[in-house]
Amino acid sequence: MSYQSIVTKLTQKNVTLVAVSKTKPASAIQELYNQGQRHFGENKVQELMAKAEELPNDIQWHLIGHLQRNKVKYIAPFVHLIHSVDSLELLQEINKQGAKANRTIDCLLQIFIATEETKFGLSVEELNALLTSPEYAPMQHIRILGLMGMASNTDDEAQVKREFASLKQLHTQIKQRYFENDPLFDILSMGMSTDHDLAIAEGSTMVRIGSLLFGGR
Ligand SMILES: *Cc1c(COP(=O)(O)O)cnc(C)c1O
Repeated sequence: MSYQSIVTKLTQKNVTLVAVSKTKPASAIQELYNQGQRHFGENKVQELMAKAEELPNDIQWHLIGHLQRNKVKYIAPFVHLIHSVDSLELLQEINKQGAKANRTIDCLLQIFIATEETKFGLSVEELNALLTSPEYAPMQHIRILGLMGMASNTDDEAQVKREFASLKQLHTQIKQRYFENDPLFDILSMGMSTDHDLAIAEGSTMVRIGSLLFGGR
């Protein structure tokens, strides 16, 4: 599918495209940039840093992969959105590095919705514990803008749909419970190359698409 046809489809549905450029060269990113794409996602800090150095300044870099606390400091000065916050300790480190960089860092909380053991993310219980913890309340240099999740890697569309629907429902609940007067809590990052249509049908506002745009890895 061409970049333009994907963008046209997503724009009609008010869904933001994060082009997932992991493992792809800077030249491939530049090519999409020249067609107007500004949001790019990487899953490794080292790779994101190298590409950010080489590519135009106005690219909005998304960190979508598991983030180790000791690497937060490298991306804190410029990262646009961290999708993969999966612990209070990580959020505290992001807050600390945000303070040092004199900025507020936008974050999504990653929720475990798949059945596979390998996927990262908070359970519903852990999510509520984080948002009610005394450590969370005073953090001044992070903002939680929504939730992120990855569905199971399966051909069973009914299962994928159920997982996305459960994340949408959780997003609605969490918004009501903790972010009722916060219009910024509005992002639901779900959907990748093979399942983004299902995700959008279930309420996604941001999709992370790699192979469909850049080819297989
Ligand atoms: C790689 C990756 C994607 C994109 O996967 P594709 O199947 O190539 O679209 C999306 N989200 C995360 C967290 C990823 O690691």
